[in-house]
Amino acid sequence: MRAVISGAGIAGLALANRLHHHDWDVHVVDRAPGPRAQGYMIDFFGPGFEAATAMGLQPRLRELASPVQEFSYIDGRGRKTVSVDYSLFAKAVDGQIVSIMRPELERLLRESVDGAVDLRYGTTVDRVTDDVVELSDGTVLDADLVVGADGVHSGIRSLVFGPERDDLRYLGMQTAAFVFTDPEVFEQVHGSFVLTETLNRQIGFYGLDGGRVAIFTVFRTDDPALPEDPRATLRRTFAGMGELAERALAQCPPSDEIYYDQVAQIDTPRWTDGRVALVGDAAHAVSLIAGQGASLGVAGAYLLAERLQAASSVPEGLADYEQRWRPVVAGVQRAARDRVTEWFVPTRMTTLMLRRWGFQVMKLPGLDRILVGSLFPKGRSVAELGA
Ligand SMILES: Cc1cc2nc3c(=O)[nH]c(=O)nc-3n(C[C@H](O)[C@H](O)[C@H](O)COP(=O)(O)OP(=O)(O)OC[C@H]3O[C@@H](n4cnc5c(N)ncnc54)[C@H](O)[C@@H]3O)c2cc1C
Repeated sequence: MRAVISGAGIAGLALANRLHHHDWDVHVVDRAPGPRAQGYMIDFFGPGFEAATAMGLQPRLRELASPVQEFSYIDGRGRKTVSVDYSLFAKAVDGQIVSIMRPELERLLRESVDGAVDLRYGTTVDRVTDDVVELSDGTVLDADLVVGADGVHSGIRSLVFGPERDDLRYLGMQTAAFVFTDPEVFEQVHGSFVLTETLNRQIGFYGLDGGRVAIFTVFRTDDPALPEDPRATLRRTFAGMGELAERALAQCPPSDEIYYDQVAQIDTPRWTDGRVALVGDAAHAVSLIAGQGASLGVAGAYLLAERLQAASSVPEGLADYEQRWRPVVAGVQRAARDRVTEWFVPTRMTTLMLRRWGFQVMKLPGLDRILVGSLFPKGRSVAELGA
């Protein structure tokens, strides 16, 4: 059986790994010229962590993870307003969590299929017919399975399921991420997640190694249109937020080196059609607000491969995957919209104060689980779902 996967990101590579495990002939293409080096820190836990463990990837996952000791908020003068020992978060999810840069997670998955699958960068799927898949490099492949794992703005979704505007739910925010080198900023944020305690906009810092600092930004705007010059927009939007922010913005790389996008969810009526399926953000982006997109991408890919293995035909396996996975993802999307957004990027001083208080009481025994559980509701495990 042959599979063509569009997208060598987290979901696509996880699926490639699992299909190869089940003896599929796997071809993966990615539009980018090579692996994306820029990135942001990911908290990887929940069903994706469980699936990665089942795939035997946990030891390498822990090896590539970045240690985080503390999580804190700072005010405009750089003073800590609240700090929480990061192990409290880990304890709340029974230690089944790592913080890892997105490129490192992708690297781990890519290494896991190295030499086992055909992986082509700088290549896209241009046409999907009833029998074959036509690639931009001129290759025509017979395929029993075609998967769109090509992210929020999925090409396969547009090609097979319809235009993006019908599926994309803009959450009223835009986000950016980049890495820069500044030994002084690094010194202040090394080993910690440091977030600015601000209304309607936020910057998060994480000290990587060798003076490198990863930051992500998020700000509210009713206008979904992406700016022509993201760097100029960031410098304007995040001006006057204290010294750390000023230094980060001063070292912001040129616009084409920044990750920049809308904060959005994908809500599309169908993820599967005959032998074509969507996984990860292409099917069901939950947004960075949910903090679980990568986890759901790995878990969904794993479940898809396992349901195909159990089914008597590809369309049956795909429909089964969609039926089991949809309610899980819908729950995470709802929680992100209804509960987490205001908590993550507050619009009111009262929320900001309540959040500060919430993190303080989190230090009391038992309350850590309640707080983490209410922000990131524990869904059913992938094993319970039939993987
Ligand atoms: C700032 C930020 C913080 C986040 N924090 C977390 C977190 O803490 N925990 C968590 O679990 N998740 C987090 N996420 C979400 C997570 O990064 C995504 O959900 C995850 O990367 C989705 O994986 P994916 O493989 O589905 O898509 P992507 O990672 O977007 O990969 C898609 C791949 O498809 C390729 N591609 C795109 N278009 C095409 C095309 N037309 N043809 C071929 N290839 C194409 C791209 O080059 C890319 O390699 C965060 C996101 C952001 C932005």
